[in-house]
Amino acid sequence: MAHRGGRHFLQIPGPTNVPDRILRAMDRPTIDHRGPEFQKLGREVLDGIKPVFGTTQPVVIYPASGTGAWEAAIVNTLSPGDKVLMFETGHFATLWRGLAQRFGIETEFVPGDWRHGVDAGVVEAKLREDTGHAIKAVMVVHNETSTGVTTRVPLVRQAIDRAGHPALLLVDTISSLGSIDYRHDEWGVDVTVAGSQKGLMLPPGLSFNAVSEKAMAASRNNRMPRSYWDWQDMAKPNQNGFFPYTPATNLLYGLREAVAMLMEEGMANVFARHDRHAEATRRAVRAWGLEILCAEPAEYSSALTAVMVPDGHDADELRRVILDRFDMSLGAGLAKLAGKVFRIGHLGDFNDLSLAGTLAGVEMGLSVAGIPHRSGGLDAAMRFLEGNGGEAKKAAE
Ligand SMILES: *Cc1c(COP(=O)(O)O)cnc(C)c1O
Repeated sequence: MAHRGGRHFLQIPGPTNVPDRILRAMDRPTIDHRGPEFQKLGREVLDGIKPVFGTTQPVVIYPASGTGAWEAAIVNTLSPGDKVLMFETGHFATLWRGLAQRFGIETEFVPGDWRHGVDAGVVEAKLREDTGHAIKAVMVVHNETSTGVTTRVPLVRQAIDRAGHPALLLVDTISSLGSIDYRHDEWGVDVTVAGSQKGLMLPPGLSFNAVSEKAMAASRNNRMPRSYWDWQDMAKPNQNGFFPYTPATNLLYGLREAVAMLMEEGMANVFARHDRHAEATRRAVRAWGLEILCAEPAEYSSALTAVMVPDGHDADELRRVILDRFDMSLGAGLAKLAGKVFRIGHLGDFNDLSLAGTLAGVEMGLSVAGIPHRSGGLDAAMRFLEGNGGEAKKAAE
């Protein structure tokens, strides 16, 4: 392929653009992972990552994609034959359910239309019905990356508490951690699952379990066979900054830098920045006369926006044109949304002009691909951004 000038726009909702600061931080020799130099790094990342989850409890770090941490959350807390409550919010919730089933977990899967988050009222009703406490866990995806819908986790927690039910709460934050407000301790989450390549701005290859005391206790008594994912095996060496097997050392250099960047900006500012870019994006979509897939404004995702193309038009053809002409990758519609939506990722290392460039590429692509729309989306976004987005901040309060 011939060289193309300028930079590629990687506007899929993960992997996200890796900032130069993180690339430079990883460009170092791989060291002895049992030596004193590593121990310092290990301690720094194991402690440093905690505030990003909003926790003071242990966070386990795996050399694995997010899917590995999904599996770890299940095999450490549940036993074959256990029942869990899950919600069909989209493609990722469906995949996590399939993973649980392979481990012999009985999944009650509440159907959904892929345009809404988890209904806390249904959580409460299902748990109240379960007087024998057969349900061992409620498992939800915080930010459904296939739809751009964010479930309000505090409402789920309140529903569990109102029902007085002892089920664990397991939450997938793979595409929300470091982008959308999240508080593992304050929201009473038992296991938070996360990955490196989305809000954390790192390459793929690390994933995480933040673990509550209750979840850790469950892991001492459950009957699921496991080895690589075992929290107990991790806990002991982690106390001294080490890992039971070879960690992804260079990704941990990157993680240390990513945490430093998030702390310098301040988590509240990171979230406000994402809220603001998401609001600017929605203003562009409305000005184009296109429909946002998320049907509930209180559940709009600040990490990505999924946009529906009019009937009779192909979102994948639009994405092909945009990649070919403007060197920008957008997210595809997944599973039953294939060809019907495209997804604009606006998370991670991102500023006003990265967003303006992204929206310019979409607007030009809509014209080139012959998708019926009005012009002026980019303009609407710019008017909002130049006003400094105070409106989005207020909306987030
Ligand atoms: C990306 C993603 C996953 C899958 O993570 P991998 O790193 O691809 O294994 C799971 N859940 C959500 C919500 C995601 O966005």
